Order: sequence, then C-alpha cells, then structure tokens
Amino acid sequence: MPTLSSQLFARALNRIPGGVNSPVRVFRGLDREPFFIDRAEGARIWDVDGNEYIDYVGSWGPAILGHAPRVVIAAIRETAARGVSFGIPNPLEVEMAELICQWVPSIEKVRMVNSGTEATMSCIRLARGFTGRDKIIKFDGCYHGHVDALLVQAGSGALTHGRADSAGVPADFAALTISLPFNDIEAVRAAFRENAKTIAAVILEPIPANAGLYFPRGNFLELLREECTRNGALLIFDEVMTGFRLARGGAQELYGARPDLTALGKVIGGGLPVGAFGGRAEIMQQLSPEGPVYQAGTLSGNPLAMAAGLAQLRELERIDGWKLLETAGARFEEAARATLRDLNAPCTFHRVGSMFCLFFTPDAVIDLATAKRSDIKKFATFFRGCLDRGVYFAPSQFESGFLSIAHQDSDLDATLRVMRQSLTL
Ligand SMILES: *Cc1c(COP(=O)(O)O)cnc(C)c1O
Repeated sequence: MPTLSSQLFARALNRIPGGVNSPVRVFRGLDREPFFIDRAEGARIWDVDGNEYIDYVGSWGPAILGHAPRVVIAAIRETAARGVSFGIPNPLEVEMAELICQWVPSIEKVRMVNSGTEATMSCIRLARGFTGRDKIIKFDGCYHGHVDALLVQAGSGALTHGRADSAGVPADFAALTISLPFNDIEAVRAAFRENAKTIAAVILEPIPANAGLYFPRGNFLELLREECTRNGALLIFDEVMTGFRLARGGAQELYGARPDLTALGKVIGGGLPVGAFGGRAEIMQQLSPEGPVYQAGTLSGNPLAMAAGLAQLRELERIDGWKLLETAGARFEEAARATLRDLNAPCTFHRVGSMFCLFFTPDAVIDLATAKRSDIKKFATFFRGCLDRGVYFAPSQFESGFLSIAHQDSDLDATLRVMRQSLTL
C-alpha cells in the first residue's frame, strides 16, 4: 500500500504545479517525496501516516515558541470570535506598530503587509521613490522573497549587472540590480563609483541565512552604513528571518547597526501570514496616503494575524526567550562540534542564537561561493539518515535550522545521537 503522503502527493501533482505551494517543500535532489503533515505540537510534527519527527524547520522560522503554543492559539480563538477581517482599522494594528517601534529603534514608522516578499518589495519601491534613483545593490545568495528586482544573482565578476534567476523577469528590470559577493566591501565601493548617484539602496540579510548560514566579517555592516550615507543610498536590512528571532531588536541590535529601512516577517506573525516594513519617519511618510509611493493591502493588519503575532512576541519577552534560545543553542553547538571532532567529519558548523547550519565542507564559509563548496550528496545522505530516524532538518543544504523554546535538552540529545548515526552512514 502506498503511504497516505504519497497518495496525497500524487493528487497534488495533478492540480498544483510540482505538487507544492512553495518549491523547497518538494525535497528536490534528496531522493524522497515530501510528507504531508497532520498536526504539530511543541518541537514535534506528525505526518498523515503517523510518523513522528523532531522538527528543526519550525514552519521556516515563525514557530519560535514551538508549534501550536497555547498563548498564540488562545489569542487567535479569542480574536476570531469577534470576526476575522474587517478592512477597517483595528486596535491591534496600533499595538503592533508601537511594539515594533519600541523594540527596533531604527523603525520610527511601520506598515503591516502579508508576507516577507511584500515587505522587501515595498522597501525597494519606497527606496526608489524616496531617492528618485532606480538601481539596487544586493548580495549573491541573499534571498529576499520572489520580488522581480531581487531574483537576481550576479555571474562571476564583482560588477556584473544582474541576470534574472527566474523566467518572467524582464531583462530591463534585472539590469537595475547589481549583485555582489557578501563580505566584499571593495566590490560595493567599486559599484558605487561606477554607478554614481543612480543607486537607490543596498539591501541585505545582515546575517545571510538563505544559502546556508554565514556571518558578516569584521565591520562589514558598519562599512556598508558609511558607503550608503556617503553615496545618498538607503541601507535596507532584510530581517524577515532574523527579526525577533536573534534578539528583541533583531540582528541590528546584535551588531549595533542602524539601517534606514527594515523588512520583517516570519516570527512577527506567530505562524499567520504577516510581514512588515518600517524605518525612518521621513522615508515612511513617502508612502500613500501621506506621500506619492503607492502601497496597499486588503488583508494588511488583519486582526487574527496581529493577535497571533502580538501574543507570540509578548510571550517571548515574558520568558526572555532570546536568552533561553541562546543557552540551548550554545549547548547544541558545543555538543555538535564535539561529535564532528570525534568523527573527524570534514564539516563546518555555524550557529547564532537559535539558528544553525551544518556545511559538508571543511573550508571557511563566508559567502555564496564558499557555501557552494558543501558536498550536496553528503548532505542528502545525512538528511535522509536523520529523517528515517525521526529528525526533520530543512530539506536543502542552503537553509538554516531553527531551535524553538519547545526543544528540550532531551530532544537535543536525541537529535545529536541521530546526527552521529547519520554522519557515519
Ligand atoms: C523567508 C524570507 C523572505 C520571504 O518571505 P515570504 O514570507 O516567504 O515571502 C524574505 N527575506 C528573507 C531573509 C527570508 O528569510
């Protein structure tokens, strides 16, 4: 008998392109079909065939308290009983805006949207509207959602103008995007020189976490701030993944950085579809209805989404979740490193707070090019080994893993045993 998951996948393939509503879910190159989820609670998920897994994907980041946290479910229930959407201002929107501005000091005004993609897309339009310039600098391997202007990754050569990664992105759009190697400030300076007074913004993940996980080196973020200010371009931090996960004020708090605009998502919605973008008031006031940059959304500021997000954020603050996650993360890292040393595994392990990534290369990983040195075949074997033993890591080398508040020491110990077995396959 085929499993229930494989029956569902066969039906899905008939009616959904690739059988999935977002491509990474299809387990490409991993020699496994995706499984379908029946329910999730705490650190665990159960598929429709009754298999149980310890989950390190956490809905790709939002589930920082674990799955189905009581406070979030209660907030959704209570709010839903009074209606699920109005399209008229509701008090929760004001509470959310005030909380964001208080926790992230670079944000003086904020607008809610429905996804991370909408947030970055709106930042780009706003930066262009505010500066009256068209070009954007981004970095190879940084992912900012499926925005036309941002689906570009340069070929070799620091100043190659963009070529789209996706069909359907007009070459004329892609040509306005310059993609550079992360951590290469000289490439940024050269791009500013060659495109004097035409660059609207530099956008980056301050801690890139969509090509594996790696870090800004030295004072890269500080130098970017200087270059943007000197050249009249805006600095945009895409903190859709890191915002409210790495610290109350996100990666910008960790690094003491002050971007002009910030994109948020994932944790902010408590598992509901939410994004936000905000920054200096002077810039945000260019948005309609105050200013000429149009931006809107039928479901933006949706009460269920605001209630779920607020409940999650306040619970994180109440329990000092970031400190708990750092403690658990440090413990996990130390044990993982000991295991790798023990096995003499030619791997590189990265972690910050509750985010981590295991690369199958012994070399330093500092950008997309070095991340790509990871042995994808070894990753696939490791992934399957873990999955078969009840541990679900992200189904791609180029993603990070997430710990949640619900992961207990006993879960981490069980996971480390599974990792050891799967590394010796
Ligand atoms: C997930 C992600 C996005 C896109 O968010 P969606 O809600 O999937 O549209 C953008 N930027 C970063 C850094 C992300 O991790």
